[in-house]
Amino acid sequence: MSRRSLSGATGLVFALALVGPGCVRSNGVPNPSGAAQESAPAAAAAKQVAEEVASPEPAEPPALSVGGAAFTFVYDGEAPVPEAALTEWVQRSAGLISDYYGAFPVPDLEITITSRSRAGVGFGQHWDGKWLRITVGEGTSRETFERDWVMVHEMLHACFPDLKRRHRWMQEGLSTYLEPVVRARGGNVSEPWVWSKWVRMMHNGRPGPGDRGLDITHTWGRVYWGGALFWLMADLEIRQQSNNTKGLEHALRGIVEAGGNGRVTWTTKQVIEVGDEATGTTALRDVYARMAEAPGDVELDALWAKLGVIPQEDGSVKLVDDAPLAGVREAMTRSPG
Ligand SMILES: [Zn+2]
Repeated sequence: MSRRSLSGATGLVFALALVGPGCVRSNGVPNPSGAAQESAPAAAAAKQVAEEVASPEPAEPPALSVGGAAFTFVYDGEAPVPEAALTEWVQRSAGLISDYYGAFPVPDLEITITSRSRAGVGFGQHWDGKWLRITVGEGTSRETFERDWVMVHEMLHACFPDLKRRHRWMQEGLSTYLEPVVRARGGNVSEPWVWSKWVRMMHNGRPGPGDRGLDITHTWGRVYWGGALFWLMADLEIRQQSNNTKGLEHALRGIVEAGGNGRVTWTTKQVIEVGDEATGTTALRDVYARMAEAPGDVELDALWAKLGVIPQEDGSVKLVDDAPLAGVREAMTRSPG
């Protein structure tokens, strides 16, 4: 793990502070949990830079490598936890994504760790497929890092092309949908846990009265969970159109192979054409027409039943294998191991 003091990234940190909060550049919308976000005020960051700019830059040890990509840390303030804990966290998160994609989709990422006093993982931001910034509290436990979703969510932003503002739902939706998927596939969370979360949250993404489709109606629910619902339906559609031989991972790998990652700006037309080409289906085109260009509601209770997801009174779910789409559900979220 390469470590640099803030002085090595003066321009970067200053630029970050000026861009403002938001997962994907400066979109200014809250994270999928709806929890309040925080960001380092520009003045504080600038003061920090001014104080530290005179300190010499230490020699850089070799970077941490995961899935073919190099990861480096920059500290904004004191390191909040021992570096070994951060390394393990990055290694696990990047490993889960690399397993899903076949390799990590960008060659390197620089991760700025902003310290705070309260333990836990806080707000995350992503820029241009190159930089992440995540707030970490002093004394954050190993268990907290193991359960964390923020690092995976932000890293996933680096893996998908930037789009015009009106299509941001597609970027936020993908991170929101894939984060529990890659964690379940890698054994970091259980399969029933993922489906119980979706039963609890996915309804937030359904269109309300007067909705005009994901490309036009940009409420919090539609951007994060409407976007997630789009990718859930796309994953299902690809599997149904390909007799369960292909899934969303194949579409996304095709997009990465064509150069589509967080370092470039694409159109949704490119995403759809390249993704569908990779799976030999019309799944993305079909689901986009239904849900982005029109309100395209999804009857979720019926969908859970078809997938063999049976909600229980305590909020958990029971997964049954004799439902019509149980095989598709397994292919989506079951750990191959
Ligand atoms: Zn995000």
